[in-house]
Amino acid sequence: MPQSPSPDIYDCQACGACCAYSEDWPRFSLETDEQLDAIPEAMVATDLSGMKFENGRCVALNGELGKCVGCTIYTVRPIVCRDCMPGDPECLMAREAIGLPV
Ligand code: SF4
Ligand code: SF4
Repeated sequence: MPQSPSPDIYDCQACGACCAYSEDWPRFSLETDEQLDAIPEAMVATDLSGMKFENGRCVALNGELGKCVGCTIYTVRPIVCRDCMPGDPECLMAREAIGLPV
């Protein structure tokens, strides 16, 4: 979940779609060992490939999708989460998948 740069419809704090799009989405990529160590172990997938995904969402996501959400590990979230920007193609795909306006 990136920051929302503007208070338009792509408000990450009222969305969370990319955090609930697919268990294959919040994967680790170019994180350093130090960055990975900062993520609570209990929130990491058992195969260590990315964030744990349960009940259709990343376990680090708090709140209600499409209403009010927050990433509980925001400052240490994976690179893929930082790279997805409000309004970009991945964002639109995720929002559409949960029925939010694009
Ligand atoms: S780590 Fe945070 S930003 Fe990344 S998918 Fe999970 S809840 Fe979303
Ligand atoms: S899908 Fe888009 S608007 Fe929603 S949380 Fe992710 S980046 Fe933000």
